[in-house]
Amino acid sequence: MNRRSFLKNTLVGAGALALPGFALPSLAAGHARKPAVLRLCSQEGRIPGKTLKEKVANLQKYGCVGIEFGGNPANRLAEIKDTLKGTGIKVAALCWGSQKGDLVSLDLEKRKGGIEAIKSALNTAAELESNGVIFVPCFHKQSDLKPEELDKILFDILPAIGDYAKKVGSRVLLEPLTKKETFYINRLEQAVAICNKLNNKGICMMGDFYHMSLEETDQTQAFVTAGKWLHHVHIATRDHRILPAQEPHSFVEGFKGLKQIGYQDFCSLECGCKKGTNPEEEVPKAFECLRKQWDEAKI
Ligand code: MG
Repeated sequence: MNRRSFLKNTLVGAGALALPGFALPSLAAGHARKPAVLRLCSQEGRIPGKTLKEKVANLQKYGCVGIEFGGNPANRLAEIKDTLKGTGIKVAALCWGSQKGDLVSLDLEKRKGGIEAIKSALNTAAELESNGVIFVPCFHKQSDLKPEELDKILFDILPAIGDYAKKVGSRVLLEPLTKKETFYINRLEQAVAICNKLNNKGICMMGDFYHMSLEETDQTQAFVTAGKWLHHVHIATRDHRILPAQEPHSFVEGFKGLKQIGYQDFCSLECGCKKGTNPEEEVPKAFECLRKQWDEAKI
């Protein structure tokens, strides 16, 4: 089976093939769109500082407006809320992951546990007024199923999870990853196909410049295709997944896409700091580089 006929057999693939017909709903209808904003943010671990308070103070100093936490910080609600109060720094997505592929497991007890775990993360996300919970169905070696079998499971479980997310005031954010990390959902258009089919505001998606620069042929179009479903962005360079400005990497084409869709959510650092360099110097430079490239992205 060649790649094209393989793709036809999966919904994720069908979405990809439907791409040429995809229209920009608001632009096509001639509606005014809010201008996009660059809301800079970082994962907690990337920011210099010994305590959350120090990290938040640094984020303020760097002109950022968000912080992203890993996993489900349910046991840190008071600490996070108290520290962020009055700082102008909001909680961005929770970088939650795959729960070892449990949500798409054929072991129904595992699947049930996975669903309970993502619901708990959605509660935390809502409590922190975050923009959602990042979800990867499975990394390599976490599922032996074929993409079309994984599609089927997702369409079984996601409607109820999406309804739950809406009820508590949050959303799931599907994250496409490079083929180096998963065989399932590698490009934004594949996540779009899932979001479109479910048409549930509790199930949305994100884009990560690192994965996108390995998998997408047109970064502008990838974000334009994601359109209204896109609610988070990760930032990292392509070759070594490090800070912007630490190796040559242009975010401009992707930023053009974000501008075209009037993107209003966070762009969050998810990257390392080049070995031997000082994060206190390099992290602010990375944000400056992103601001410069945002300005260079003309539409
Ligand atoms: Mg990411």
